[in-house]
Amino acid sequence: MIEEERELTCIVCPVGCRLRVKLEGGQVTSVEGNSCKRGAQYALDELCAPKRTVTSTVRVRGGFLPLVPVRTSSPIPKEKIMEALRQIASTRVDAPVAIHQVIVESVAGTGVSIIASRSMPRAEAGQS
Ligand code: SF4
Repeated sequence: MIEEERELTCIVCPVGCRLRVKLEGGQVTSVEGNSCKRGAQYALDELCAPKRTVTSTVRVRGGFLPLVPVRTSSPIPKEKIMEALRQIASTRVDAPVAIHQVIVESVAGTGVSIIASRSMPRAEAGQS
């Protein structure tokens, strides 16, 4: 089996541990340099099935502002990001919007929701 060593920076928390990952035949055999077990899981995910949290905005009809910031409720596979962004771009929501409100269910068929990152009152309520 071919042995390979990769270096990664863990992006799970702001500490940013430098990870040294050994692979054999494309499979992760060891992870070093992580200060907690979330780092080992990150290395496994990143090398076998990378995922990312997606952030964007959605148009709001009748909102105090025309756009509301949104994000995925958890990371989605990297190869689904463009499809998710297209779906988000074509989505419209009516004000008022509550923080953490589900805007799109199972974006790009991932089973992960797009949720509002902040609330957005109606235009009249926001101006009073
Ligand atoms: S390994 Fe743990 S402590 Fe280090 S960056 Fe990742 S999550 Fe943070």
